[in-house]
Amino acid sequence: MPDYDVIVVGAGPAGACTAIHAARQGLHVLLLDQKKFPREKPCGDALSSLAIAEFNVLGLLPRLLEIPHTPVQKIAYHSADGSSVTVPILKIDKDTPEAGIICRRILLDALLMEAAAEEEVEIVDWCQVTEIQTKNGQACGVKGERGGGREVSWTAKVIVGADGSDSVVAKQMKMPRYSEYRALAVRGYYRQVLGIRGNIEIHFPEEVLPGYVWFHPTETSQTNVGLALPMDVVKQGNIKPKQALLRALESPELKERFAFAEQMGEIETGVLPVGNPMREIHGDGFLLVGDAAGLVNPCSSDGTTNAIISARIAGQVLAKACAGDVWDEAALREYPYNLWQEIGPSLEMGGRLMGLRTPKAIGSLIRSASRRPHNAGWISGVLLGSALPSEDLDDFLAYINFFAK
Ligand SMILES: Cc1cc2nc3c(=O)[nH]c(=O)nc-3n(C[C@H](O)[C@H](O)[C@H](O)COP(=O)(O)OP(=O)(O)OC[C@H]3O[C@@H](n4cnc5c(N)ncnc54)[C@H](O)[C@@H]3O)c2cc1C
Repeated sequence: MPDYDVIVVGAGPAGACTAIHAARQGLHVLLLDQKKFPREKPCGDALSSLAIAEFNVLGLLPRLLEIPHTPVQKIAYHSADGSSVTVPILKIDKDTPEAGIICRRILLDALLMEAAAEEEVEIVDWCQVTEIQTKNGQACGVKGERGGGREVSWTAKVIVGADGSDSVVAKQMKMPRYSEYRALAVRGYYRQVLGIRGNIEIHFPEEVLPGYVWFHPTETSQTNVGLALPMDVVKQGNIKPKQALLRALESPELKERFAFAEQMGEIETGVLPVGNPMREIHGDGFLLVGDAAGLVNPCSSDGTTNAIISARIAGQVLAKACAGDVWDEAALREYPYNLWQEIGPSLEMGGRLMGLRTPKAIGSLIRSASRRPHNAGWISGVLLGSALPSEDLDDFLAYINFFAK
């Protein structure tokens, strides 16, 4: 018999939550991460209302609210032409006290790791998985190196790739690369940014469109400031994202806000594997969750929400599969089916909404939201990329595409 039911490679939100869900279903789980925890991860640190609702499902919301965080109730959008609007964030789960949260990843991921340990998940951090072992093409174990260079190996019925945007599991199991579905993001922390009012701020300077700049207030006096750009724009324009962020902060609209600001630490870069519901994300003896499965919303850069949702769905499928005698592609097929059913439409819509990121369209959306506050909620969804498909939205997009090109 294999050593474990499930080995999860990577202990970010996708991996830790998969381990928690699987262990709660009675599975024997090993969770591995190459880094020594607690560890930082470049991120905007924003948790969406949907992510908060998933924490509620996990029963971890009270603990999330106990760690240092900034609650956010509103998003302020700013276009290059000077128009702006501030919109309340809609709560997905009315029972949750906060609509959005900014929480540093070093704290969030440590909390999830601790919760996994409480579910009797076996955890080995500082252990880099270097090879996925296979038998007749089916994943059946991992080989790795623990800190200090000691070689280790374990076997399992199913291997879960939760190892982020450069997934070893995806590579070794020969999943397509989907390199056209990528974006780049950079973020830094700044002290003393002027005019921070406790809201998320989204700025659309013309030179970074269809990308955007975010300001996320943290619980300290620091602001998480970042920029996200689609990879094709980066490549075509030969753009250096760090320089693009620094230039945007020097622009006439933002310069005064940074007159006394001090950058804290380095500006870090990360890849955003953006969602595409045609992706292959499972096979014989393995499945992929979170960034390893490429689930980031192309418009909003929100990847944590879908990482946690994929973990919940993976946990259900793993429990069924591990109860049987075969753990091949067919035994795990329900996973991509259920996942794309749940998040496919919003990912697809996120991709379509990127097409609206022209200076004219953004300006007219922001002005429209400020003139008609009753429409501001769904216009906010259109600007951010979180709007869900509907006939009304299709009509609206056709109208905007026609008039605001
Ligand atoms: C600059 C930036 C800003 C972002 N802002 C936001 C935001 O504000 N809100 C949001 O929701 N999303 C944001 N995202 C996206 C979000 O960070 C990711 O979608 C999210 O972290 C995905 O979680 P994950 O668990 O799939 O992967 P990760 O968090 O990347 O975790 C993967 C884990 O796997 C481990 N690992 C990798 N390889 C191996 C290996 N070979 N062996 C063992 N372990 C391994 C890593 O050490 C890591 O701990 C941002 C991303 C970037 C780059």
